[in-house]
Amino acid sequence: MKQGMRRLAGAAALALASSLALAPAASADPPFVPEGKGPGLPVAAQPLVGVRIAVDPGHNGGRTQDPEAANHPVPDGRGDRVACNTTGTASVDGYSEHEFAFEVSEQLATHLDGLGAQVWMTRSDDEGIGPCVDRRGTFAEDNDVDLMVSIHASSIEDEDTPGFVAVVAGPPLSESQGEPSHELAESLVQGLEDAGFTANQDVDEPVVERSDDATLNFSRRPTVLLELGQLRNPDEAEMMRSEEGQQRYVEALTDGVIAWAHDHH
Ligand SMILES: [Zn+2]
Repeated sequence: MKQGMRRLAGAAALALASSLALAPAASADPPFVPEGKGPGLPVAAQPLVGVRIAVDPGHNGGRTQDPEAANHPVPDGRGDRVACNTTGTASVDGYSEHEFAFEVSEQLATHLDGLGAQVWMTRSDDEGIGPCVDRRGTFAEDNDVDLMVSIHASSIEDEDTPGFVAVVAGPPLSESQGEPSHELAESLVQGLEDAGFTANQDVDEPVVERSDDATLNFSRRPTVLLELGQLRNPDEAEMMRSEEGQQRYVEALTDGVIAWAHDHH
C-alpha cells in the first residue's frame, strides 16, 4: 500500500532525526486513512467530525534488527536520557506488547476515522524501530492534534495482577499535562469500566502520574498512556490477544474519546 510506504519512510526519517539533536521538527504527517476508504466520505453518524487524534502504538517490532539504533539515548524531557525504544513486555507464550499495541491501535484508528475524526498514527507498521519515545511525544504538537492516546500493555506492576492503568505525565511540565490530560484519562477510564474492564488493583487509583515516560513528557497536547492489560497474566493475555477482546478495547476507548470530545471540543 503506497500510503503505508510513505508513512514508513516518514517513521524511519523521524527515528533518524531524533538521533540528531539539532534536526528540525518533522513536518506534519498525512492522516491515517483506513484501507479501501478515502477521507471525507459521508457517514450518517459522525460524532468526532473535526476532532484530531494521535494514536501511538507503543514500541515497535523491528527493534532486534538494529539494537544500536533502538538503544540510542534520547532526552526524556526532564534532563535525563532514555533508550530510543524499549522492547516492551510479552505474554508467557510469546505474544508481544508491540504486536498487541499495533493491532489495537490500527483498529482504533480505523474506528475513530469512521466516526469522522482525523487520525494520525506514530507508526504505520510493526516492523520498524522508531519513532523514538521523545518524537512520539512531539508528534502530537507536530500534527496539531486535540488529544493523543498511547497504547501499551502493562509490565511495571505485579505480573499476577490483571487490569488496566492510565498514565499521565507528572508533575506537569506544560499546561496540557495537568488537568487536561487528567480529564482525558478519566474519560478513557470511564469508557473502559463501562465496558467491563477493571483497573489494576496494585494501584490506588486507575490514573497514575509518572515522570519517567518521554512520550508523555514531550507531549504538548492532552495525552494518556494506557497500559490496557497485563500480558504476563495468562488469562488476561488470552483475552488481549483475541479478536473479541481487542474489539472491546476499541469500543471502550472510542466511547471515552467521544465523551471527552463532547465536553472539550
Ligand atoms: Zn510499553
